[in-house]
Amino acid sequence: MNIRDAKYECMPREELEQLQLERLQATLNRAYKNVTFYRKMFHKSNVIPEDMQALSGLAKLPLTTQEDLRVNYPYGMFAVPLREVVRVHSSSGTTEKPVVVGYTRNDIKVWTNLVARVMTAAGVTRDDMVQITFSYGLYTGAFGFHYGAEAIGASVIPTGTGNTEKQIMIMQDYKTTALVSTPTYAITLAERMEKLGVNPKGLSLRVGLFGGEPLSEALRSEIETRLGISATDNYGLSEIIGPGVAGECEYKCGMHIFEDAFIPEIVDPLSGKQLPAGSTGELVLTTLTKEAFPMIRYRTGDITSLVYTPCNCGRTIARMAKTMGRSDDMLIIKGVNVFPSQIGAVLTAVVGAEAQYEIVVDRKGAQDLLEVHIEAAEGIFFDEMKRQKAFLEMVEKKIRSVIGVGAAVKLVAPNTIPRHERTTGRVVDKRMI
Ligand SMILES: [Zn+2]
Repeated sequence: MNIRDAKYECMPREELEQLQLERLQATLNRAYKNVTFYRKMFHKSNVIPEDMQALSGLAKLPLTTQEDLRVNYPYGMFAVPLREVVRVHSSSGTTEKPVVVGYTRNDIKVWTNLVARVMTAAGVTRDDMVQITFSYGLYTGAFGFHYGAEAIGASVIPTGTGNTEKQIMIMQDYKTTALVSTPTYAITLAERMEKLGVNPKGLSLRVGLFGGEPLSEALRSEIETRLGISATDNYGLSEIIGPGVAGECEYKCGMHIFEDAFIPEIVDPLSGKQLPAGSTGELVLTTLTKEAFPMIRYRTGDITSLVYTPCNCGRTIARMAKTMGRSDDMLIIKGVNVFPSQIGAVLTAVVGAEAQYEIVVDRKGAQDLLEVHIEAAEGIFFDEMKRQKAFLEMVEKKIRSVIGVGAAVKLVAPNTIPRHERTTGRVVDKRMI
């Protein structure tokens, strides 16, 4: 069992919550004193940091959005003077200006240890040779893993991105044992190895840490089979710290969130209201240890759910499920929040990862109608009416049990659904509002 900071990762919940409350109070005080945005936010909500006498009080504060960070670009959200900042990174902003984040010397130390904890949970030890294929630059990924691996005592091979053949040569010659990459790049490496006649199983590679894009179960098993490694998922974002927020242990049953450093909440993406434990909704994170760039109730935009039962690995900290898409993708059907990825997951389970489908939402009178069109393919009995009917009924039942509303599932002729790049499902919302 590999646990780097058992004291924090296996704490009884009561003690953990006490620690969280103390750290939360310190964070709120720092933010209130030093960040105009947060001071205004407190005033607007009629709360002062001293009022925060229980963790439940956090829900009284408003949420912080990426738009708030943009408005305060570049340094408006910093809680320390720039002379105390030893590093800046930026987030991968999709539009306009990216968010600038800063770290004090202590922030770097804390961040390094958090990533070391993610890597340890994934099975990396001081004996590993860690090849990092993320981009070394403004993004947090490469530097986060670089420092984390060094803190464990592993050897880092900072190859950066690209030059796939050289990456493979290095893997062979330097005897890389751990790969840090995006899932897509792992597949690119496997494909190139096949072309070059390199047998991945003849390499020293044994473990992979994947980030930057979703690692679906189908993708995980493809990577594990083709590269002959154990593939683990982890979660992080620059606005919060970078990698090091959560990571899977060897049981791969959700990503352990380091709750001694972050408070996770799940909120309804529409109302912003906190949802009860176990609900699926948008992940909101509050940082507890950051000096330069504290974040209070930051909306990540990622849809997930939390589990608080202890894991077989011994950790007592919460686990987050794989992110199921972005809150912007949410559909409201008959008043129920539905994520297209939930339907996608059902179809992957019953039809396979290659299933081409389309989700069509329409409105008849005041009634929302949900249809799921699946393209006929091998294994879906297009010409046997009885079996086809039974199959469609089974899929309808599964979808209803997952999303909570009924959908009419129909088969459509092959190659009639427009293809999207890298995704198999698409959503057509015909409701005019
Ligand atoms: Zn675990």
